[in-house]
Amino acid sequence: MSDLQLLYQVQELDLQIEARRRALQEIEAALGESGELTGARAQVNRLQELLHDQQRQLRDLEWDVEELSRRAKEDEQRLYSGAIRNPKELEGLRRELEQRQERRRLLEDRELQLMAEIEGTQAELRQAESELARVQSTVDAKHRELRAHQAEVTEQLATLSTERARLASTIAAANLAQYEQLRRTKRGLAISKIERSTCQGCRIALPMGLVQRVRAGRDFIFCPSCGRILYA
Ligand SMILES: [Zn+2]
Repeated sequence: MSDLQLLYQVQELDLQIEARRRALQEIEAALGESGELTGARAQVNRLQELLHDQQRQLRDLEWDVEELSRRAKEDEQRLYSGAIRNPKELEGLRRELEQRQERRRLLEDRELQLMAEIEGTQAELRQAESELARVQSTVDAKHRELRAHQAEVTEQLATLSTERARLASTIAAANLAQYEQLRRTKRGLAISKIERSTCQGCRIALPMGLVQRVRAGRDFIFCPSCGRILYA
């Protein structure tokens, strides 16, 4: 087999290797993508924080209500103990008691409102958690698929690279170097096939004499238009 035929096989392998490298990059990118998951997780975190905050507010309120009840009870005891006889002082105490009771009613209303809000947040949180679980399991399944594909492509890449190295070792160093150099400057395609007297690399029609020289296959003949090595 001539070096040109061997190089053409090397090029076929290089194209396949390149396609698999691109596939691996795409797989890597897809494995890194987690926009939907990040969004679902952020929603759960937000609701957990909100719930925590509301529960803390409720505990504070409960504490305030308890404190007000305790002090109202003390006021009542003093009011009805008979120890205070001064009418002005009694009136002042009664007003203070009424204010405490009014304040307690307001806080109790707020407590009820907050409890309803907490129930709402808990329901939203349950929904967000089940959405997160759903997204997570979809992503897990997708990742399992991607990893399996990744392993498969990696194995193919190793086989192709071994075969490429084996073939390359049988080709004259200067010819291989010329191929490598053209491959870099001609967008991965150093050798161009001739079909119906046309260079497939640049689609230009080639003179018959040139095509015949390529068919004779003694030297490397270059396309006069794109500069690639012609192969018949
Ligand atoms: Zn050409």
